[in-house]
Amino acid sequence: MCDQELAGRNKLRLARATFADTTGTIAIDLWEENIAVIKIGTVYRIAPIQVRVWNEAKKLSTMRSSVVTPVTDTTISQLQIPEEQLKSGNETVTATVANIHTIEKVERFIACFNCAKRILQGTSSNVVHCDWCGHTMRISNCSQYVCAKLVLYVNDRQIHLTAFQDVLSNVIKGDFTKFSEAEIAEMLLLFNNITVVYNANSRVVKELKAVC
Ligand SMILES: [Zn+2]
Repeated sequence: MCDQELAGRNKLRLARATFADTTGTIAIDLWEENIAVIKIGTVYRIAPIQVRVWNEAKKLSTMRSSVVTPVTDTTISQLQIPEEQLKSGNETVTATVANIHTIEKVERFIACFNCAKRILQGTSSNVVHCDWCGHTMRISNCSQYVCAKLVLYVNDRQIHLTAFQDVLSNVIKGDFTKFSEAEIAEMLLLFNNITVVYNANSRVVKELKAVC
């Protein structure tokens, strides 16, 4: 398990860890009160739990309703996990490229008025429900954000990164609510000498610099 950090607008405590069983290992995001309950080397059952996909890799995330129960399972507790699989993967990587290879997509999403996390369900009415904190709210109270999925070629390897609006606004000046998805993609593609700093595990861009 790595050090805790504060994430999101509400500064919720987040710790990243790796869970293992006889079939393999998976990264897990532990939130808030779930962090203190979990000790390294102990076997747990956690339910309910959310499966999220980050850059083609699945990871788990606890929710407010998650219940952590220690269980006795000597098959799992005696597992020897290779050191490299236990890395939190939280290190940052810096890459510099001439330009962005392609834009997978630019999308808009709305953030929970209470916890600022992304609203996961469809927005068919004027009211939405947040699966993270359980609150229900008017859509008109939620902030809208843009996020771009970028594909870069670094040392002949394709890397897929996600850049959120806070990072995109470092290179794209103006009102994001007025830009279309196509316009944002075009602006990004025309940048040269791009430097990205990203999280090696989540593939989320922390810093984006470019020359027009
Ligand atoms: Zn929420």
